[in-house]
Amino acid sequence: MSAIIIDGKAVSAKVRGEIAEKVAGMEKKPGLAVVIVGEDPASKVYVRNKAKGCAEVGFYSEVHELPESTTEEELMALIDRLNADERINGILCQLPLPKHLNEKAVIDRIRPDKDVDAFHPVNTGKIMIGDYDFLPCTPAGVMRLLEEYGISPEGKNCVVVGRSNIVGKPQAMLLLQKNGTVTVCHSRTPDLKAECRRADILVVAIGKAKFIDADYIKPGATVIDVGMDRDENGKLCGDVDFESVKEVAGAITPVPGGVGPMTIAMLLTNTLKAAEIADK
Ligand code: NAP
Repeated sequence: MSAIIIDGKAVSAKVRGEIAEKVAGMEKKPGLAVVIVGEDPASKVYVRNKAKGCAEVGFYSEVHELPESTTEEELMALIDRLNADERINGILCQLPLPKHLNEKAVIDRIRPDKDVDAFHPVNTGKIMIGDYDFLPCTPAGVMRLLEEYGISPEGKNCVVVGRSNIVGKPQAMLLLQKNGTVTVCHSRTPDLKAECRRADILVVAIGKAKFIDADYIKPGATVIDVGMDRDENGKLCGDVDFESVKEVAGAITPVPGGVGPMTIAMLLTNTLKAAEIADK
């Protein structure tokens, strides 16, 4: 039997609808500033989509497009200005930054209470102890998808493939907080297939097109594909071979239309939360 297809577009629309409803009743609209440095075409698309997402839910938003030649001092000065600006509740600096800029220093400069990406060490530390205001958008989006489809990590073997600071590690922490028994795999895991085959919930975030095929899947498992890759024809695809895996899995996210649409919805959720905290 073919798997249930987890519809990230529909869940994202629902979340954005809930946000728009709340914002309609707010006198001061939440404000998001998005900063982009350089000309990376993919980053430009992401930034445009974020600004569009803000407009749709009634947020105030600013996009700061800086040239590739921007110095660290100039970028820091902009962040300081946004940190102090009362209209701005959330600041997002689109990554990756050009090589001459120190990403870590830039992330550290954003005020933790405006860090709607939840990349600041204060926020990552808070996630570790389970006392947080913001969650990183992609893992939070995955958790919301599981919740919407009534798939609880409690008592399940949850396997996360990938250990990046923005996806794999926080994802593992969130599954653990929901009482999953969590294994984190990476490029040095000796028998990845055996680890994956134990998973009731498998989250894959490695950045390798269609790497995980049906052989990695326990029959009936939930498979969440975070990957955003290009196949041999340049078409957008995930880290999971959707066509073969959907015949074995119990539920699966497609790419596109799965985790991707949730990321912006969660960014908007974090910005609303930041505004609510600021207004308290
Ligand atoms: P990343 O920083 O490059 O990390 C990749 C992780 O995968 C690393 O931990 C790496 O292990 C592991 N890995 C790589 N090859 C592997 C293999 N053959 N077997 C097992 N583990 C392997 O990537 P990321 O930023 O987490 O992103 C992962 C994917 O998610 C990408 O396709 C990215 O485009 C996508 N993404 C999507 C969204 C969204 O909104 N949908 C958001 C963020 C990222 P080591 O640590 O040992 O090197």
